[in-house]
Amino acid sequence: MSNAEWVDKTGAFVANTYGRFPLAMVRGEGCYLWDADDRRYLDFVSGLAVCNLGHAHPGVTEAIREQAGKLLHVSNLFHIPGQAELAELIVKHSFGKRVFFGNSGAEANEGALKVARKYGAEHGGGRYEILTTENSFHGRTYGALSATGQEKYRQGFFPILPGIRYVPYGDAAAMEAAVTDKTIAILLEPIQGEGGVNVPPDGYLKAVRGICDRHDLLLILDEVQVGNGRTGKLWAYEHEGIEPDMMTLAKGLAGGVPVGALVLNERTADVLVPGTHASTFGGNPLSMAAGLAALRELVKPELLRHVTEMGDYLRMRLREMAGRNPVIREVRGKGLIIGAELAVPCGDVVRAALDKGLILNCARERVLRFLPPLIVTREQIDDALALLEPLLPREVSRG
Ligand code: PLP
Repeated sequence: MSNAEWVDKTGAFVANTYGRFPLAMVRGEGCYLWDADDRRYLDFVSGLAVCNLGHAHPGVTEAIREQAGKLLHVSNLFHIPGQAELAELIVKHSFGKRVFFGNSGAEANEGALKVARKYGAEHGGGRYEILTTENSFHGRTYGALSATGQEKYRQGFFPILPGIRYVPYGDAAAMEAAVTDKTIAILLEPIQGEGGVNVPPDGYLKAVRGICDRHDLLLILDEVQVGNGRTGKLWAYEHEGIEPDMMTLAKGLAGGVPVGALVLNERTADVLVPGTHASTFGGNPLSMAAGLAALRELVKPELLRHVTEMGDYLRMRLREMAGRNPVIREVRGKGLIIGAELAVPCGDVVRAALDKGLILNCARERVLRFLPPLIVTREQIDDALALLEPLLPREVSRG
């Protein structure tokens, strides 16, 4: 079937929740995707930071194939060896002590909110309030949506979860001023992804860690988008030499197979006990096999060095481009999560790029977001920018 036929069939039968491009992707390899009309695209979005190892990664593919032939699912009525192994690997490479597995970023954040409230009830004198940040994105389920500091996503869904307040991002003084005697936790992204690739000032995470320590709060970092090697460290908090009390993961953790993980430290590890939280599919043998294969690649220092090098190169090339065309107002990011803020909305640029065979994304209307697979090469970056540059509108002054 062609792209056009798939578009019609989707329109007829699938819930209308996404503004989609009129293309159906049917195959991928490395940094490339092919559509139903057999046209090739250079993918600088990676399924929204999911396919960090590229498409059809041989190690992940083989692990899935092998596990699928052995056992797909048994439920958490039983011990699942893959869960123990993946949790051990995450713990070995992080601050964590224990891991709860779910299926998505939103579900990981739901778990974190529940742990925070239960910790508050049992160890925090009944404190329940959670501070999150303006422009944040934590997912679409009710708790995660309530934690998301963007009004547009909550419209039509009130009343949302009570006891959550939004504080300006990147402003540690505002965060400290917002703490009350009801506050139990602070939840934030080390870099805001969907909110426009907003990188906080150096020292922000450390300052927020300090606030949590002074006021006996839990620090929850949402690394759903920026974890899994995306910033050139395995976890983004490592850049600031601090550790959270909880970290939420999903997206790139299992190379494209749905998985979510809530990583818990010494303080929070034992808050959840049997009967308090669960997920039927969470940590099933298939997702755990994929997660193990993917994470074993993502922890490799040479891959993380490559992410840093390619990220520096892509930002440098974009800044050169900004020098030639002031429509690019700012280039920001860390490793391979990069935003180029334009003076104009970027939807047209994204559509024109797609026409030329380059997949890009637009965050917060004016920010071109680059999330290539972490295995992207210098040549592929050159190819992408050669396609992109002529598509940018000309701006004569910064006015
Ligand atoms: N948290 C962050 C930082 C995200 O970027 C996203 C998705 O974009 C989520 C949570 C929600 O993840 P999911 O769509 O897997 O529920």
